[in-house]
Amino acid sequence: MLRFFAVYGNPIAHSKSPLLHNHTFSRCAINAFYGRLLLENGKDLRESFKAHHLSGANITIPFKEEAYRQCDEVCGIAKEIGACNTWVRENGKIIGYNTDAQGFYESVKDFKMSNALILGAGGSARAVAMILKTHNIPTTIINRSQEKLEFFANKGFECFVSDEFKADRAYSIVINTTSAGLNDESLPLVKQKLQEIFTHSCYAFDLIYGKQTPFLALARESGLECKDGREMLIYQAALALALFVKECPLAPSEIAKIMSEVL
Ligand code: NDP
Repeated sequence: MLRFFAVYGNPIAHSKSPLLHNHTFSRCAINAFYGRLLLENGKDLRESFKAHHLSGANITIPFKEEAYRQCDEVCGIAKEIGACNTWVRENGKIIGYNTDAQGFYESVKDFKMSNALILGAGGSARAVAMILKTHNIPTTIINRSQEKLEFFANKGFECFVSDEFKADRAYSIVINTTSAGLNDESLPLVKQKLQEIFTHSCYAFDLIYGKQTPFLALARESGLECKDGREMLIYQAALALALFVKECPLAPSEIAKIMSEVL
């Protein structure tokens, strides 16, 4: 029987998820189709999922928290993050997962990290921080404003508002989870402070993919090993596909290799 999957978001036209999933379905002879659905109002997510008879879905900006609230059960690290990017229909129930966290970790696991600095405190920062915590990597969070730092402070992370942060300590990796540089040429932090931080760091990671952001350009200039969000995107999709198609004999790392043929 043909199974249907989709990615929800707003905007959604740019999403690479249909390309990654449909390519893998085709290469592995899986009888399924993956589309994209623009949602105006997050409150309609569950109803839309049911109305389209979906077997599973990915949920992206700005509906991941709504996806967490509206599913029947939450599994794994999504419980700590408070956001789901993957829904799977299992025995008539909608089960929510978060594959962004593990997707991030898969793409940095070869780095030697004794601590980390995260720039930004939104949904993706939560996923990154919680998976680093799982791996016992002490992590500091800085954000331009206070409100979103509360979540991290309550989980025991060291947090600073950017203006109050002093760049006087070494961090193995600096991770940009802000959208600075996505549609403009801005940096997530004032240039001089960022340069000071980079002086003591080994790696820079930007969740944005498909372009060299000013953040990564500056990190490269400062001699850091740099990585963008392409592999994270592929891994989170591969982990989701393994949850969607339980009978798929391939490991997520093998699915990721197939997906990387088209991205
Ligand atoms: P959110 O909107 O939840 O959070 C954005 C954060 O960035 C907030 O903390 C916000 O600060 C901060 N911010 C936004 N603009 C600036 C700026 N100009 N300067 C400094 N800080 C800024 O977004 P997400 O966490 O969901 O996503 C962030 C980015 O990560 C996006 O670009 C997204 O495309 C990318 N992403 C990539 C993934 C991948 O697989 N590669 C997966 C998920 C996300 P404030 O609190 O003050 O508003």
